[in-house]
Amino acid sequence: MSVSASTAAVASPAAGAVRQPVTVVGLGPMGQAMVDAFLERGHEVTVWNRTPSRAEPFVARGAVLAESVEAALGANELVVLSLTDYEAMYALLEPASDALAGRVIVNLSSDTPEKTRAGARWVTERGAAFLAGGVTTPPSGIGSSESSTFYSGPRGAFDTHRDTLEVLTRADYQGEDPGLAALMYQIGMTMFWTSMLSLWQAVALADANGLKATDILPHAQETLGGLGGFIDFYTDRIDAGRHEGDVDRLAMGTASAEHVLHTMADAGVDTTLPAAVVDIFRRGMEAGHEADSFSSLVELMKKKA
Ligand code: NDP
Repeated sequence: MSVSASTAAVASPAAGAVRQPVTVVGLGPMGQAMVDAFLERGHEVTVWNRTPSRAEPFVARGAVLAESVEAALGANELVVLSLTDYEAMYALLEPASDALAGRVIVNLSSDTPEKTRAGARWVTERGAAFLAGGVTTPPSGIGSSESSTFYSGPRGAFDTHRDTLEVLTRADYQGEDPGLAALMYQIGMTMFWTSMLSLWQAVALADANGLKATDILPHAQETLGGLGGFIDFYTDRIDAGRHEGDVDRLAMGTASAEHVLHTMADAGVDTTLPAAVVDIFRRGMEAGHEADSFSSLVELMKKKA
């Protein structure tokens, strides 16, 4: 996997430079933020959405509402899709596939790497270039150089359209395999969902003990914000296959995880998440890793059930 992250700020084009016209299909919260960013930066924007009324505020600001998906594809070479998933892409593009030839389809909808690769093949077979994207910011971060989006697909198409795509966020190109952007996106979401659920679990325990979320805010920020040091420490060791235990022995971690589970049970709150954590720790113990670091659990996770 090649990784090359741009750290360039989203810069304004030079005075008089021609801004590339762009089509945006899909006006959910994300698509709306994208249209807003393109209009703000002076791009001509053609839009299409299944529910046309969502286009009205943008038409009032100068966007063109295409009469059909075919017309939206025909309006511009660069077509950005912001849809719920790849099924929505097929629902829209299948009936309009004659209009795909010669377009550059940039699908910024989230889905699995496999569905992204299949979607890339489907679009490419119909004569268009295909770039996949994984947006790592909520709509409020669109238009900011502090936000970033993973891209993958043909390097030439990415290089040609990079400046326009960087109106939305920084562009972080991952490589030619179209599944890579989705893979990096899903890796991020893996960490995001479990981390945030850990916070909800902590809040539930706090609530059962008469504390509000704000009462544990400094503690939560210190605990979750302090994970960077652990990440730095463990990644090199994991890649080297080193799991020697020290103060982080699995046996100690299992006892701690069980204390967490029992604390939740005593408080009468939901125990699904802490029970799953204990289950993983116990499997590591059964596999004989009690004296190893709890990072040895990653080896269990690598194995398919
Ligand atoms: P939404 O699900 O709200 O957007 C849905 C868009 O897809 C709408 O334009 C909707 O049309 C259209 N759509 C859905 N299904 C179909 C279909 N079968 N046929 C035609 N159109 C369809 O998502 P968001 O705008 O929030 O996000 C867009 C993408 O960006 C998603 O893949 C999401 O995972 C990703 N993303 C979103 C983030 C966020 O915070 N929102 C953050 C990072 C990524 P209609 O208006 O008619 O319903």
